[in-house]
Amino acid sequence: ENSVAGGDLEVDASKMRVSQTEVAVQITDMNKWYGDFQVLKDINLTVMRGERIVVCGPSGSGKSTMIRCICRLEEHQKGRIIVDGKELTSDLEKIDEVRREVGMVFQHFNLFPHLTILENCTLAPIWVRKIPRKQAEETAMHFLRRVKIPEQAHKYPGQLSGGQQQRVAIARSLCMNPRIMLFDEPTSALDPEMIKEVLETMVGLAEEGMTMLCVTHEMGFARKVANRVIFMDKGQIVEENTPRAFFDEPQHERTRLFLSQIL
Ligand code: ADP
Ligand code: MG
Repeated sequence: ENSVAGGDLEVDASKMRVSQTEVAVQITDMNKWYGDFQVLKDINLTVMRGERIVVCGPSGSGKSTMIRCICRLEEHQKGRIIVDGKELTSDLEKIDEVRREVGMVFQHFNLFPHLTILENCTLAPIWVRKIPRKQAEETAMHFLRRVKIPEQAHKYPGQLSGGQQQRVAIARSLCMNPRIMLFDEPTSALDPEMIKEVLETMVGLAEEGMTMLCVTHEMGFARKVANRVIFMDKGQIVEENTPRAFFDEPQHERTRLFLSQIL
């Protein structure tokens, strides 16, 4: 059922290129605990520029925590995370630099309800990036056109459907000109008929060469867009493969069990 919405996505694979040399994210022997509970165990992951990686796995396996560590919404305790050549340490200035490169889209859109769509998209560019309002608005309209809702610019989030709000959240991220986009189950709070419009937006980003790390159980999307699929269980990366090998010849019993439950 989960794979239905992404089943008939239009994807032009010939447009998608990966840089073989530039590393976007490098995670080495990374471990994280919440108190006594070890939530991530010896995570090793390299994301090349232009790569699109889908992360899946059972609820509670640590997918969100891993993603949140990459944009430093959570702190790891052991190992290294290097984003765009900058190591995530406790140096706050560097963290701000890294956050500037990384866009993040969550399950719940986290739009400001009292601001219009346009204001949601221009707030950070104006106040964090110090971009002149007129220019920020032009950029915002550019990205609202790209996610196909420019006509909603002067409405408030509550007046939009869930799918439209999630596309605003994507446009808002793009307004900060990120080099990497992280998605954490961006379609799992949406009604089925709205999933496709959000996935189409993500396919568009993939075709434009955006580096993407997506936690999603949309297996149609994974099959068509991902270079690699990563399966996590109990805080570990259990299996990592091309989509075809991952779905057609899963290596681990836990992966097979997971796939049998969602496909
Ligand atoms: P997933 O996204 O794969 O569902 P999460 O990364 O959200 O998994 O959570 C992994 C594990 O860490 C779960 O067991 C969850 O209960 C636990 N966890 C998540 N956030 C916290 C927190 N702030 N404090 C303590 N435990 C947490
Ligand atoms: Mg999660």
